[in-house]
Amino acid sequence: MVPIPPIRERLREQNPPAYAKIGIVTQKAHILGMTRAELAELVTGLGEPKYRADQVFRAVHEQRLRSFDEITNLPKAFRAKLAEVADISQMSVESRFLSTDGTRRYLMKTGAGKPVETVYLPTENRDTICFSSQSGCPLKCDFCLTAKLGLLGNLTAGEIVEQIVIVLNDVYGVGAETPHGTNLVGMGAGEPFLNFENLIAALRLMADEKGLFIVPNRVTVSTAGIVPRIDDLAQLEDRPHLAISLSAATDELRDRLMPINRKWDLDALMKAARNFERSLKRGERFTFEYVMLGGVNDSTEDARTLAELLKRYKLRRCKINLIPHNGAEQLDYSSSSPEAVAAFKDTLESLGVDAYVRTPRGRDIYAACGQLAAKAA
Ligand code: SF4
Repeated sequence: MVPIPPIRERLREQNPPAYAKIGIVTQKAHILGMTRAELAELVTGLGEPKYRADQVFRAVHEQRLRSFDEITNLPKAFRAKLAEVADISQMSVESRFLSTDGTRRYLMKTGAGKPVETVYLPTENRDTICFSSQSGCPLKCDFCLTAKLGLLGNLTAGEIVEQIVIVLNDVYGVGAETPHGTNLVGMGAGEPFLNFENLIAALRLMADEKGLFIVPNRVTVSTAGIVPRIDDLAQLEDRPHLAISLSAATDELRDRLMPINRKWDLDALMKAARNFERSLKRGERFTFEYVMLGGVNDSTEDARTLAELLKRYKLRRCKINLIPHNGAEQLDYSSSSPEAVAAFKDTLESLGVDAYVRTPRGRDIYAACGQLAAKAA
């Protein structure tokens, strides 16, 4: 299990305090990345009573206010002191794209100028926000446009939370209650499990009932197969749902499509999945995602191999999400035909495996799965 460092160390690493100099730039603490205990430490350090921490937390998370001036229940002098040592906002929205299907893609930049993309997916019953955990991605999945960026940096917990706050404010307005049906998916740019501590810290902040109140049950995080972190997740009490991006049922093909497989092969991954399955609560399931690439991994034989793989590792409490590939000029793959997707699904189901087809969203604005590559137009 990854140890979560004590508050002071974590703050120092992820939210360097005001007096920490990075080169010639002074980086302030990011209020949105601080727990209430950390905020209490900050406000008492500034000579204010502890209850102010609660006021600040509610203002930035529950009301989603974006500047200290707007927190009018705090004394003016304290607001000025806070602004000297901390930021509410460290991200800026560079562009916002609207798809014909209602999907919105936000291209943001961190204070250090790194691109971050977040996608808002409205549906009739509930809205979903797909957030990024890294700027770019170090993994080299062959079918993914984000891979072309390489890793530009890990996002801090504050930057992860801020993406969601920006989207909620854009969709519902500042101060409006976060709808209780809002779902989060950690399936944007980056490999969330390579930024595990910040991810978990951000999810805990967003679950707070005095804040956004988006509970873990409404969150799904996807990994390309970072096996030790799957084991860590299995040990967490309040954890998000797990999705494992699989996309191939043999090592030979997965080595090619998702090179992370050369580090943790299918045997290691399936054993971690089985371990995770044992930790599931009653009625819970987890997901395997399978990107469908025309003529590469989408034959009925591939479907049989996949069903056989799940059977071999006795995985029963999982479902398969079939994701038709979202093409892009720089990628050598095309999407499977609707017939191939339907045949693949039928084959899985005939072998006792639950499979669902995920409808692509926001393809026209480069917002769909695997398309996030900081495209500015
Ligand atoms: S599919 Fe996910 S893990 Fe793989 S390169 Fe793209 S963003 Fe990274």
